[in-house]
Amino acid sequence: MLELRRQGRQIGFVPTMGFLHEGHLSLVRIARREADVVVLSIFVNPLQFGPNEDLAKYPCDLKRDSELCARNGVDIIFNPSVDDMYPVLAKASSSYFNVFIDEKDLSRQLCGASRPGHFSGVLTVVAKLFNLVLPDMAVFGQKDAQQAILIQRMIHDLDFPVRMIVAPIVRENDGLAVSSRNVCLSPDERRAALCLSAALRLARNIYRSNERDCGVIKSAMSKLVKKVKLARIDYIEIVGTHNLRPIKRIGDDDVLIALAVHIGNTRLIDNLPLPRDRLANLPE
Ligand code: AMP
Repeated sequence: MLELRRQGRQIGFVPTMGFLHEGHLSLVRIARREADVVVLSIFVNPLQFGPNEDLAKYPCDLKRDSELCARNGVDIIFNPSVDDMYPVLAKASSSYFNVFIDEKDLSRQLCGASRPGHFSGVLTVVAKLFNLVLPDMAVFGQKDAQQAILIQRMIHDLDFPVRMIVAPIVRENDGLAVSSRNVCLSPDERRAALCLSAALRLARNIYRSNERDCGVIKSAMSKLVKKVKLARIDYIEIVGTHNLRPIKRIGDDDVLIALAVHIGNTRLIDNLPLPRDRLANLPE
């Protein structure tokens, strides 16, 4: 990497947990456009999974991922092992890994409230990946809006010399946000999963009818999701983008309408940023 940088080549970076899909590939296309060399990492980061989460079940197909990378202009796949990244997690008795990045405010909101430690795991691995890959620019998805906001914060606060681009959410034709976890859904659950984008669409329609009261919008969304048998709400929130705190009324500032819903055993997230709703790519 240092050699590539010495040659003055711009390195674009797309961090992923693999099992690649159109969402990841849209990030690769942006990196391709913006940089000379595209590095994609595949690392299922154990630090960002809680004890009762789906780490063991996380889908993986390196052969298919390599083919997709080759066809979509990825120059380098970086696929470290857990042992490479965190020796302590692999060798229980030793303590080779002991430094974590912990953001103390934004990381406690939204997904952070139900997934304690998750964003510390994300920020720690992204910091390590930045130091290993030495990218000039990195692309992250709006799909994980809170993650993107936190990484932007880390880049700013810790002076990482990395330019970050946030890419719009890629969806299936029926509105479901593409996710590696969608393969875990049964046909019934797949149908139920449409309630996330449907709730956001409803929120957008209510907003367009000039309603600005967040209570009204959230309760309509929650009513819609509660009608779906296989769905269990983790949260439905309307927050200010700058602090991720719930707001009462939508005004002139940027806001994020975000939700997390368990569909059977699979936890799905989706969001709609306002007024920058093009990032949500939500069909009418
Ligand atoms: P993951 O492999 O799920 O950790 O995702 C790796 C990157 O791809 C993250 O920056 C995600 O936000 C992004 N991503 C995942 N799904 C989508 C999607 N449907 N649209 C756009 N970006 C996505």
